[in-house]
Amino acid sequence: MGKGKLIVVSGFSGAGKGTLMNALMERYDNYALSVSATTRAPRPGEVEGVSYFYKTDEEFRQMIERDELIEYAGYVGHYYGTPKTFVEENLEAGKDVFLEIEIQGAMKIKQKYPDAVLMFVTPPSADVLRERLTKRGTESADVIEARLKRATEEAEGVEAYDYIVVNDNLQDCVETVDRIVKSEHNKAGEHISLIKEIRTDLSKQ
Ligand code: 5GP
Repeated sequence: MGKGKLIVVSGFSGAGKGTLMNALMERYDNYALSVSATTRAPRPGEVEGVSYFYKTDEEFRQMIERDELIEYAGYVGHYYGTPKTFVEENLEAGKDVFLEIEIQGAMKIKQKYPDAVLMFVTPPSADVLRERLTKRGTESADVIEARLKRATEEAEGVEAYDYIVVNDNLQDCVETVDRIVKSEHNKAGEHISLIKEIRTDLSKQ
């Protein structure tokens, strides 16, 4: 089996990335979702080891020192990072691994894994974004404001992404992402060795 692909998904806070990731994991067997480490507190309903691995600043620092993270970044007052082992084991097993991370992390991943596919998920309009973020009701007005500001800043780096996916209807969005990943597996570079094998075999006759 070929090696899996690393798929980075970023997007405005409130773009519906979490719901999108869950729907993708439920629907397709060959996808794995990386669970990040963070120093922020769990939101109501979030589960340790499923939503995030919740760490103290000190624990997070130790993970950095021990080289246990493939990337990490600061986001609105907290640290977030991607544990290395899960990603590498799943890629090796041929799974496509999704990282739902912000833009600084995405850029680091692109440097370390040039074959990674970068997707930016956006709601169809600023109004929808504001509405989703407010409706979630889990953050204070200050935090929502800080996140909207950060979203505006993040949009500046969007040119570095390979795909922009509009999340208007969830099911459509799930299928779009799946199609993109499947197409990435059909890129010429992925199959060069197969063509070489066929040519070698043919030349033997
Ligand atoms: P939230 O607090 O809303 O769960 O996440 C805040 C931001 O951190 C989101 O943009 C999310 O994609 C990002 N994030 C989550 N995990 C990671 C990670 O492991 N690394 C990086 N760089 N960003 C992350």
